[in-house]
Amino acid sequence: MPRRRQIYEGKAKILYEGPEPGTLIQYFKDDATAFNAQKKGTINGKGVINNRISEYVFLRLGHIGIPTHFIRRLNMREQLVRQAEIVPIEVVVRNVAAGSISKRLGIEEGEPLPHTLIEYYYKDDGLGDPLIAEEHIACFNWASNEEMQDIASMAIRINDFLCGMFAAINIRLVDFKLEFGRIWDGDYSRLILADEISPDGCRLWDMTTGEKLDKDRFRRDLGGEEDAYQEVARRLGLLQNEDNGPGEVFDLNAHRGKLRSPIKPKK
Ligand code: UDP
Repeated sequence: MPRRRQIYEGKAKILYEGPEPGTLIQYFKDDATAFNAQKKGTINGKGVINNRISEYVFLRLGHIGIPTHFIRRLNMREQLVRQAEIVPIEVVVRNVAAGSISKRLGIEEGEPLPHTLIEYYYKDDGLGDPLIAEEHIACFNWASNEEMQDIASMAIRINDFLCGMFAAINIRLVDFKLEFGRIWDGDYSRLILADEISPDGCRLWDMTTGEKLDKDRFRRDLGGEEDAYQEVARRLGLLQNEDNGPGEVFDLNAHRGKLRSPIKPKK
């Protein structure tokens, strides 16, 4: 097979040229970073799990009418996606205070917010992805007013759907990050959901124990990150040899051993 052309390498994924124009292959790495890449590490098997979780979430969002870049999963670590022009904004949806909003505004972690908050951050690693207002987005023309309306309404629908989906498996969706891309058709463009939705970009807390099942285990040196990611996949029904979609059986346990539960904290 000819070597594929690499289009972009990010912190957790690599993008390759796809088999047809307008497509890309998204490869999920095990690399993990935090605090604007000041902390680096790997989470064994993370790429495999995130590929599978993101496939599942994007397919389900597709079923409720959210347009996404996902076309199909190719193998354990790769998925075929539509190429889109990425809007340089990270959209963060919050239901419960945690992470940067707790620090910035002095709200205790775990405090439910009076209502769902949508925040925007400018996607620029050099600047550390600063928090921005819609005024900045309009002023610098990062997205049109129409696009911002679409983004906000999709973000709310996605949040409502995902809150229910995770609640059904006893997980509280505290917050998460979305990215959108433009698909051009002549002079017109429409927005689709891009990137990934996985425990890398969500805060997921067990509803009974409050246990963190997301990247905060890595960020905060809690240990047990591999088991936490697996636990999310297991609860979503993605680790059994069932319903694996076309092509192949997803059997992480075959090479990783059985899930240890509860999450083993670092000694
Ligand atoms: N997030 C992300 N990528 C980023 C920044 C944030 O995926 O570059 C996610 C993060 O995992 C969390 C949510 O967005 O689920 C809110 O993150 P926050 O602003 O609290 O920042 P953090 O505490 O992660 O630095």
